[in-house]
Amino acid sequence: MQPGTSRSKSSIVVLFVSLVILAFSFLTPSTFLPRLRLFTSHFAPTTIRPLTTTTTNTTATMAAYSQELNIALLAVQRASILTKSVFHSHAKGTLSKNDASPVTIGDFGAQALIIAALQHAFPNDEIVAEEEAKDLRENESLRNLVWDLVQNARLSDAAAEETLGGPMKSAEQMLDIIDKGDSKGGASGRIWAIDPIDGTKGFLRGGQYAVCLGLMVDGDVKVGVLGLPNLPESDSEPLVESMGAEQTDAAGKGVLISAVQGQGAVSRALGKGALAEGHSIHMKPLEKVSEATFCESVEAGHSSQGDAADIARKLGITKPSVRMDSQAKYGSIARGAGDLYLRLPVKKDYQEKIWDHAAGDLIVREAGGEVTDTEGKRLDFSHGRTLKENKGVIAAPKSVHAEVIEAVKSVLGGK
Ligand code: AMP
Ligand code: MG
Repeated sequence: MQPGTSRSKSSIVVLFVSLVILAFSFLTPSTFLPRLRLFTSHFAPTTIRPLTTTTTNTTATMAAYSQELNIALLAVQRASILTKSVFHSHAKGTLSKNDASPVTIGDFGAQALIIAALQHAFPNDEIVAEEEAKDLRENESLRNLVWDLVQNARLSDAAAEETLGGPMKSAEQMLDIIDKGDSKGGASGRIWAIDPIDGTKGFLRGGQYAVCLGLMVDGDVKVGVLGLPNLPESDSEPLVESMGAEQTDAAGKGVLISAVQGQGAVSRALGKGALAEGHSIHMKPLEKVSEATFCESVEAGHSSQGDAADIARKLGITKPSVRMDSQAKYGSIARGAGDLYLRLPVKKDYQEKIWDHAAGDLIVREAGGEVTDTEGKRLDFSHGRTLKENKGVIAAPKSVHAEVIEAVKSVLGGK
């Protein structure tokens, strides 16, 4: 055979295969590409190296939001050092806020550390954070406790600590920094959302909690980071409710999960100095929704456990729910340790807070999932400090999300 003939035959084959792929991607653009990405990811595990901790001027050649991600990861890692130190001491210094939710010295300290880092790196950005310094201004001994914690929470890597701007100068400065989290939020500009300790009740109980940070640009979440000190570092450990209970501060405990829009989700060990190497994470491929493991709140006042049981029954799910506090639920399903997260409104007028969902929403979507409210609408972070246009949260792998929403609507619609 002529060499030219065989070359033209193989060109025809290549052309034909390309046309088939192109036709598929046009027919089902919303599902084909993510599925292809999910499929290929199983063959090529990626290792994500942390950036160097020095800030450079080469952002044009770097991936989008790489500096924001680096600062956010280090800030959450440093704040987690503080929360762990409170978690392992027994006197957590609780008091009650107006809404009767418990606040600890850990919340104030972690918020101060994260805002200080953000202000150093991005002085013009706005911040929506859960806590305010009023109680600390009125209570000197509480203030001193928090100031002591803040001074002692340092990254062991000097360059990393330097990247975050180093130590704060005084307790007064710390109070002012805490109060910088008072942005009203909204649909324009760069706004960070911070929950310094999400799942405070879990934290006090010795269960799961999360240090949460998300960056929104024009109301859209671009970067999300979750520090999960009481979850195992390993992505493959089965999800059980007791996994927080016997945590120690030893190596191998705690995980840092993050995502950047369009760049996938990543998991790495929660360390004490420079960032550990990360690896891509993905939701577990789920053939049948009846095989799902679903997560919900421990607190019956935050999510209706009765409705969740009815929905699970409708979907043929037989495994009992895994109840855990905080955005650890989003992190767990994103890395395939569970499959669904159901958050079903208990009170009609409750508005979910943006800091309770910003990081987790992006992380699950970047890991191959779909996150909506109970009506199937995407979470909308552009309406201020709350998700006032949404009710509840349903997070699931793309392949079964529509089926779950159908079951949610039929259970909730009948009330
Ligand atoms: P979780 O640990 O998932 O139960 O969620 C903890 C978060 O629930 C806290 O950070 C609160 O902001 C939030 N929360 C407080 N009250 C309610 C409520 N009635 N419904 C839903 N979430 C709530
Ligand atoms: Mg919270």
